[in-house]
Amino acid sequence: MHYHPKRNLLENRLILVTGAGDGIGREAALTYARFGAGVILLGRTESKLLAVQQQIAQAGLKPARVITFDLLTATPADCRAVADTLAQHLPRLDGVLHNAGLLGEITPMAQQDSELWHQVMQVNVNATFMLTQALLPLLLKSPGGSLVFTSSSVGREGRAGWGAYAVSKFATEGMMQVLAEEYKHSTLRVNCINPGGTRTTMRASAFPQEDANKLKTPADIMPLYLYLMGDDSRRKTGISFDAQPGRKAGPAE
Ligand code: NDP
Repeated sequence: MHYHPKRNLLENRLILVTGAGDGIGREAALTYARFGAGVILLGRTESKLLAVQQQIAQAGLKPARVITFDLLTATPADCRAVADTLAQHLPRLDGVLHNAGLLGEITPMAQQDSELWHQVMQVNVNATFMLTQALLPLLLKSPGGSLVFTSSSVGREGRAGWGAYAVSKFATEGMMQVLAEEYKHSTLRVNCINPGGTRTTMRASAFPQEDANKLKTPADIMPLYLYLMGDDSRRKTGISFDAQPGRKAGPAE
């Protein structure tokens, strides 16, 4: 995407990023902070979140908050507790990037392990739903809230072997569409990003034989992540965006 955001695009915006300790989520959190946002870093590995928080502090940007939270075990009450804590300290949320995700195993449907299946659904779909439900009141306090889910090309067209992950991403697209319909007369916009093949740990475990140097880095795909959190996307809702339009799904060639 060719997008040239202004330096203060996210000034005064408060944005929560899940899975903010690594990969695309880490880069998104750092990028949002560089463009002026106050960021809330949510993830399961505290040391990684603290490292991102420190990097933001060292760059002299707005201090980031850390919420250590495991989506795998999250209940509705846990999600409400996160929202309650945030509500005690923040007037509103202007953006939520649901980025955390679990790949599960790449294996045919007939061999998908059902425990792992449930884990992928819990992290990618159920916890994402519960957290969204808990955070909606804070998002609706924003004059222009943006809710962004993370999809995948296998969430739009099924592919052999992608089992629970693909099904969870179809569900994510559905969740986005339902919410976008429900809030179409409000100031809240709801969209999906399909990052496209990006150089991260998850990608390396899905395609171990791939030459990672042929992939875009998380930093390369940030223009769309910025666009959807800033005012320039204000009237866009119910859309599934590609961070790498035109990229063919599957291993880098
Ligand atoms: P990574 O595996 O590099 O990062 C995933 C992040 O999610 C990590 O910070 C991880 O935490 C966090 N996470 C995983 N499980 C949980 C949990 N139970 N509770 C809280 N946080 C958790 O993945 P990517 O950066 O590659 O992926 C980001 C998103 O983009 C995912 O939704 C993925 O499905 C999607 N995507 C990625 C593509 C790619 O090519 N990279 C392509 C298409 C979609 P921790 O650091 O502690 O492990």
